[in-house]
Amino acid sequence: MSININKDKCIGCGRCTEICPNTFKLSNEGKSEVINKNDLNCAMKASDQCPVEAIMVNE
Ligand code: SF4
Repeated sequence: MSININKDKCIGCGRCTEICPNTFKLSNEGKSEVINKNDLNCAMKASDQCPVEAIMVNE
């Protein structure tokens, strides 16, 4: 299982970090990064809400 961010697509809107603060965090460069891969369900919700479809979740 994995959670990955396409940093080329991410626009740093912060939606994923609001939905799953334990899974995503905005880096200094203003892109989301994965800090914890344990909550796939939350990551899937965030993936659905990402405006640019930059979050990929594989079970
Ligand atoms: S919701 Fe998508 S675009 Fe917004 S910060 Fe997260 S990965 Fe980036």
